[in-house]
Amino acid sequence: MSEIPTETSGGRPAVPTSSPVDPISSAPVVPGVDAATVATGHPAARPMPAVAVVGGGPAGLMAAEVLSRAGVEVHLFDAMPSVGRKFLLAGKGGLNLTHAEPAEQFMSRYGARAGSVGAMLRGFGPQALRDWATGLGIETFVGTSGRVFPTDMKAAPLLRAWLHRLRHPEAGAGVPVRFHMRHRWLGWDDSAEPDAAGRQHLRFATPQGTIALAADAVVLALGGASWARLGSDGAWVPLLEARGVPVAPLAPANCGFDVAGRTAATAGEPPESRREFFRDLLGAAPAPEPGWTAHFAERFAGQPFKSVAIAFTDRQGRSFRRRGEFVATASGIEGSLVYAASALLRDEIAAQGSATLHLDLLPDHTPERVLAEARHPRGSRSLSSHLKSRLGIDGIKMAILHELLGKEALNDAALLAAAIKALPVVLVATRPIDEAISSAGGVPFEAMDARLMPAALPGVFCAGEMLDWEAPTGGYLMTACMASGRVAGQGVLDFLGR
Ligand SMILES: Cc1cc2nc3c(=O)[nH]c(=O)nc-3n(C[C@H](O)[C@H](O)[C@H](O)COP(=O)(O)OP(=O)(O)OC[C@H]3O[C@@H](n4cnc5c(N)ncnc54)[C@H](O)[C@@H]3O)c2cc1C
Repeated sequence: MSEIPTETSGGRPAVPTSSPVDPISSAPVVPGVDAATVATGHPAARPMPAVAVVGGGPAGLMAAEVLSRAGVEVHLFDAMPSVGRKFLLAGKGGLNLTHAEPAEQFMSRYGARAGSVGAMLRGFGPQALRDWATGLGIETFVGTSGRVFPTDMKAAPLLRAWLHRLRHPEAGAGVPVRFHMRHRWLGWDDSAEPDAAGRQHLRFATPQGTIALAADAVVLALGGASWARLGSDGAWVPLLEARGVPVAPLAPANCGFDVAGRTAATAGEPPESRREFFRDLLGAAPAPEPGWTAHFAERFAGQPFKSVAIAFTDRQGRSFRRRGEFVATASGIEGSLVYAASALLRDEIAAQGSATLHLDLLPDHTPERVLAEARHPRGSRSLSSHLKSRLGIDGIKMAILHELLGKEALNDAALLAAAIKALPVVLVATRPIDEAISSAGGVPFEAMDARLMPAALPGVFCAGEMLDWEAPTGGYLMTACMASGRVAGQGVLDFLGR
């Protein structure tokens, strides 16, 4: 029978594993841990249960912390050479740990999952997270938007302090967590003998070959499917589905979008009249190539739209309106304001094939004022210099008017003023999930009990972004990941009767 590796055991298996997942290496996988013992039969009953946590993001690390503090032998496995890679990336632009808004508003960020995520946050909410960071020697502050950051904005010092505490807990504060890097979980070892103790037989790909081991319980905290190069690639989906666990399809969340392009034929024409022309001719509107014109993409990709507002209402009447910033990309738009609307926009595109948002280029100006300024006689001045001097519109704001409006609208003060306040921007596709900040979809709460244990997989617990919830940026992702890691860790303790 296979067991989790221990730091003290070593040598070749006395009883070779019955698993066909050889070769099993005897070379140490991590200092002090002998891979051979991973697959070795150790008949003696263990004095304490051993738990495998798979995935070393914030959710897995938090689950490991709960278990370690309870005195449980915990082994953390990760496919990557080091843990917390996405956590570190999140720190690049300032690690937004959580948010300081009132609890009710905070919970509402989880939308349809506010109830399930809210239940987890009751055990570890925004203030608890800040206190936890303080316990690691990391002070936090509330930014002007209510977002909470470490005072130095960085993720690395926090992760370093956290890993140190997990590896070297103070006397009486838990057992050290054993880390096993470059261990890619491959699923279950179906060749293992049925285990009367109900243990989980797992397979891992390691640099030394494929190994098999058993654990008394398992926490899976494998992340979503964005930024696969940092470790979370969604490869776990078919593994859980094969075991009877339903998984809602993973989809990009907090993502960018491609805009509907203008075909060469429609460039410079009023889009509506052109569409009608083609509809009459062909019976259907032509599908333009997605993306900006080459001129716009070359000059403005990467440039920000500052102090603008986005308004969007979907077919069900759900609406979004907010001020903020976003950037133009080579083929569309992305950035914090777009991310905030992204769930509605994504769902609308999935249902309807496109989503049209309205961009207010001057949210501080009333429509009346914009109209009055647009109508102001401009003499011999160009439209661009007129709009710049009367309304302060220039650069990318001027460019998008030229990009999306035909000559007719640009030369009609009423149409132009209406467009400045509500420019229709048609989005036709989400950017690929790998580019997204996070993923929606995953293991639904309905398939698990309150401990985050799927009904189909007793002894296995799920945590983090791999659960079926989503939230905007603002620290909501990290908070829910950590809270769910705690719930899963406590769930394991309950399962093991500790
Ligand atoms: C650019 C960027 C910035 C972000 N900024 C913020 C922010 O400021 N605030 C915020 O709240 N959120 C932010 N996020 C989101 C946040 O980082 C994630 O939601 C969070 O890291 C998810 O935690 P997790 O533990 O569920 O998964 P992950 O952090 O993705 O960790 C999953 C781990 O599982 C491992 N793994 C996956 N498959 C296997 C396998 N088969 N075998 C072994 N190991 C495996 C991976 O290697 C990885 O280490 C940001 C994300 C991005 C991409």
